Amino acid sequence: MKHPAKKLTKADQELIAAATAAIKQRYRDDWQEVGAALRTRTGKVYTGVNLDAYLGRMAVCAEAVALGRAFVDLGDAGIDTIVAVRHPAPEEKDRSIAVVSPCGACRELIFDYDPKARVIVPNGRTPGVVPIADLLPNKYRRGEG
Ligand SMILES: [Zn+2]
Repeated sequence: MKHPAKKLTKADQELIAAATAAIKQRYRDDWQEVGAALRTRTGKVYTGVNLDAYLGRMAVCAEAVALGRAFVDLGDAGIDTIVAVRHPAPEEKDRSIAVVSPCGACRELIFDYDPKARVIVPNGRTPGVVPIADLLPNKYRRGEG
């Protein structure tokens, strides 16, 4: 069931700030342009940036890097909330780092690690929060269930 996007909490704003700081620090034209941050259900924040690759299919999204860092540290601590932000390329006029939606593969990944995760997404003038299930209707499953 689809819900209207909810307003951001202070903790959500902090997550956007963490993702923004990560990509500001590690931005490289054509290589790193997306930052992500997630808050585990234990309350810890992890950041990631995308790993682009000369061989395109080896590229890894920022959300997956953040999740990997969290998993190595804590094991399966769940995802309370996750967000990705995109840094503009040098030729873009709009210089703002803005919230972007997770790609399809990341939606699968987020759902697999926490089907109740909250996701911060673009929502008109200010970002909003939706449950991951709303971003992935009729999710692929093996066999029954
Ligand atoms: Zn992705």
